[in-house]
Amino acid sequence: MIHLKKADYLLMLSHARACLPEEACGLLAGQSRGEEAWVEKVYCLENADHSASHFTIAPEEQLKAILDMRERRLELLGNWHSHPETPCRPSAEDIRLALDPTASYLILSLEENEPVLRSFQIRDGQANREELDIEE
Ligand SMILES: [Zn+2]
Repeated sequence: MIHLKKADYLLMLSHARACLPEEACGLLAGQSRGEEAWVEKVYCLENADHSASHFTIAPEEQLKAILDMRERRLELLGNWHSHPETPCRPSAEDIRLALDPTASYLILSLEENEPVLRSFQIRDGQANREELDIEE
């Protein structure tokens, strides 16, 4: 299970909306113990692809975020991106590019009126839902 603060969820949502029609993306950092992870910081980073259906986290921003995590003694927990017009599940490309079986991959779909955020773990070409808890 991954725990996310409501304020961080709202930050992701506003960034995803600001990036429309392009996909938004970023990293998640915090602490983990066993199967539990707590997000303590959400990074909203540039999508170097500037595309509505693909994303690549801009490498120089990714590096800056990783250095910031080290300074704050946070662990990289995974990444997140938005799906402006597609459902809340990993695309074939998302699965192909997911190389870390322990990471959480969060997808925020804006396809419907109500945004949908889900977390997935991806291993051996298979995406599985991970329980996501959004706390006040
Ligand atoms: Zn995707």
